[in-house]
Amino acid sequence: MKKIGILGSTGSIGTQTLEVVRQNGDIQIRGLAAGSNIELLEKQVREFTPEMVSVMDEAKAKDLAVRIQDTRTRVAGGMDGMLELASLEDMELLVTAVVGMIGIRPTIEAIRAGKDIALANKETLVTAGHLIMPLAHKSGVSILPVDSEHSAIFQCLHRETPHTFRRLLLTASGGPFRGYSRKKLEKVTLEDTLKHPNWVMGQKITVDSATLVNKGLEVMEACWLFQADLEQVEVVVQPQSVIHSMVEFEDGAVMAQLGTPDMKLPIQYALYYPERRFLSGERLDFSALGTLSFEAPDLDTFQGLAMAMEAARTGGSMPTVFNAANEQAVRKFLHREIGFLDIYDCIRSAMNRHQVVVEPSLETILEIETDTNQWLESRW
Ligand code: NDP
Ligand code: MG
Repeated sequence: MKKIGILGSTGSIGTQTLEVVRQNGDIQIRGLAAGSNIELLEKQVREFTPEMVSVMDEAKAKDLAVRIQDTRTRVAGGMDGMLELASLEDMELLVTAVVGMIGIRPTIEAIRAGKDIALANKETLVTAGHLIMPLAHKSGVSILPVDSEHSAIFQCLHRETPHTFRRLLLTASGGPFRGYSRKKLEKVTLEDTLKHPNWVMGQKITVDSATLVNKGLEVMEACWLFQADLEQVEVVVQPQSVIHSMVEFEDGAVMAQLGTPDMKLPIQYALYYPERRFLSGERLDFSALGTLSFEAPDLDTFQGLAMAMEAARTGGSMPTVFNAANEQAVRKFLHREIGFLDIYDCIRSAMNRHQVVVEPSLETILEIETDTNQWLESRW
């Protein structure tokens, strides 16, 4: 039995990972971690009997300990709990599905302890890829992509020498506001933003998909995962979300991975790689589909992608500022404190004031996050 842990087990990716585990029946859950949703964690503990659970909110961790005192599962709290869970003995792989750069430290801890990583938490790679990828290499640890686009590229590269690719064609749905002008974006509401046309996901990534920040984070994620230069990654809007991404090789051949939009596929692929297993669910019906369409992204209107490319080009600590400002802005947008387009202004102003640090250490990354948050808090 493969033994795994999940950071963010109560979220969209976390619950779908547990669904894959449930359907296959041959994976043992060693540890589960979440932010504060102890009602769901309790159910997960009773069903999957992990050795340990961790809750970021320390008071909730205490509550959970009382609720599950009849079980053998140990409860820990805070960042220390997540770090302990990340390096649990007798665990082979950690699914990193927390949202945001809070995932950096436990991911590094898990790699140091020799655990393979099934990576959904893209913010970690965007901000600390220069620390994580060499560390993974040194520790002999695999970073297996869960993000659907990166899983698609990974599947296309299977059995190819990675270095023979010419371009990575990262597909984007375009989000709920595809085709909108800037004027039209001025009036969009939180409710409009949370209606993604093709995918049901956590709130933060749903907002990121609407601003195209998500695609920008994914461009940076792809550069780290596949050792690609920024110029080798091209974003293609594919509104039906049927083509999950493509790879163009030296000889002009293009390989694509297609499927219905179901995150269980990339999750299962990462959990069992290199084995491909049966997965129940809807299959593509090409006759019913009729056409697949493609567009270039509108970088002038959806500045999230344009600013991400700028941050990636600048490098060093700029992707951290881009990401930290976005996380803070999205929190404010979700609390109805700012409007949709203010998200772009927050990121722009944070990037403008930042003095780039080349090769930032983990401490510097976390300091820059705090500094960016405090500065945005004082301005908005
Ligand atoms: P959700 O918001 O649905 O879930 C987030 C999870 O993280 C929850 O378990 C939550 O716990 C936990 N969490 C939140 N804050 C903290 C914290 N401070 N400390 C510890 N745990 C915390 O997010 P998603 O599942 O949508 O996304 C997770 C990651 O996967 C993101 O990085 C996203 O970009 C990426 N991803 C998601 C996809 C999707 O389809 N959803 C697709 C591709 C990538 P609690 O419930 O207790 O708050
Ligand atoms: Mg994606």
